[in-house]
Amino acid sequence: MNQITSFSVVFLAGGMGTRMGRDIPKQYLPILNKPLALHSFEVFVHLPEVKHLIVVCEPEYQKLFLPYQEKKSLSFASPGMRRQDSVFNGIQLLQGDPLVCIHDSARPLISAGLVRQVVQAADEWGAAVAGVPVKATIKICNDDQIVLSTPDRAQVWEMQTPQVVRLSLLQEGFAKALQQNLTVTDDVSLVELLGKPVKVVKGPYENIKVTTPDDLFIAQQLLERACTPTN
Ligand code: C5P
Repeated sequence: MNQITSFSVVFLAGGMGTRMGRDIPKQYLPILNKPLALHSFEVFVHLPEVKHLIVVCEPEYQKLFLPYQEKKSLSFASPGMRRQDSVFNGIQLLQGDPLVCIHDSARPLISAGLVRQVVQAADEWGAAVAGVPVKATIKICNDDQIVLSTPDRAQVWEMQTPQVVRLSLLQEGFAKALQQNLTVTDDVSLVELLGKPVKVVKGPYENIKVTTPDDLFIAQQLLERACTPTN
């Protein structure tokens, strides 16, 4: 049996989710009787190897997470303008050099098994991420929507969260991104900037990110299926 590796979590629940077109951020919309964010948050709360859980959220939403404080050591950080700024704020609360598991609260369908697989891979490689091979053909286009090129589909993967990186590596990547004034849309991009390896762990296609109303509908169906006992 694999040894269980301990880690810290930066749980991202900032941002407005404007593409959802609702008056509260998408991560707090109710889905199967609880806010969307709590579906994946509870997975981390129940993992004994999670040593420290940092929630990045607006102060008005902290109360949703407070009841879990009995089970887990919780801290709160303020969101930044961009996703990467929220991650940066979150990691300021960490000490030592733990593996840091960063998760988007907008992905409600993770499992403990997937989190553990990504953590194990990061322990071995320094950085790891859940991802899936793309099903569609991807085109690179210019601003006028004229196709420039077509990457070989066999080599294109869509990234998900959790993304797990050793803290010292993340800090080094942030320093480089700051120096070059770069915006990155995921965490392992910071490791790529350093020219260091990132291992992709094949996740399930169900691990969708809720962005638009259609996604909310699909996530609800998938969560219902996950909660239905099989014979
Ligand atoms: O907007 P997007 O779907 O890319 O956001 C991904 C995740 O990052 C969401 O769970 C959201 O709560 C979080 N986020 C954040 N701070 C921001 C922007 C997004 O914590 N400034």
